[in-house]
Amino acid sequence: DEKSEASVTEMVSDVITLLKTQANLYNINLLFNVEEEIVIYCDRSQLKQVFINLIKNAIEEMADGGDVITTIKKTEEYCIISIKDQGPGIPKHLIHKLKEPFFTTKKNGTGLGLMISNQIIENHHGFLQIESENDKGSTFSIHLPV
Ligand code: ADP
Ligand code: MG
Repeated sequence: DEKSEASVTEMVSDVITLLKTQANLYNINLLFNVEEEIVIYCDRSQLKQVFINLIKNAIEEMADGGDVITTIKKTEEYCIISIKDQGPGIPKHLIHKLKEPFFTTKKNGTGLGLMISNQIIENHHGFLQIESENDKGSTFSIHLPV
């Protein structure tokens, strides 16, 4: 276990910087909304991997470009990092399959990103909420206890 106190804002902003060049090639803007500075006890490199997986998935769904908006906020119980895209959305009957290993709709997908992300989040005693609206996009919200 490699857990220590870390700033969620800093981790997300590092990941956005990392992915910005790739996103810009596809006419995608990575936007970032932070309401307040939040520090949590976590495995920094594992959580960064989760942010990379989810933001990459969002980029990969937006063939026509658009905005991917990452928002960080805090409730009494949770730090919530949500990643909202303007992709095609996910059919309701498929949502429960996304966290299963090897489920992919991509030609060269592994179908492992969300399974691994979900495991890392659960290892931090949190959960991953998936919401989607047909033609409007999807929002993946990582809930981590504060
Ligand atoms: P991969 O990216 O290799 O396909 P993932 O586990 O990351 O594997 O994702 C599994 C599947 O979930 C994707 O193939 C896609 O069908 C669906 N998915 C993931 N993120 C999104 C998203 N933001 N919008 C629509 N579908 C998504
Ligand atoms: Mg993926």
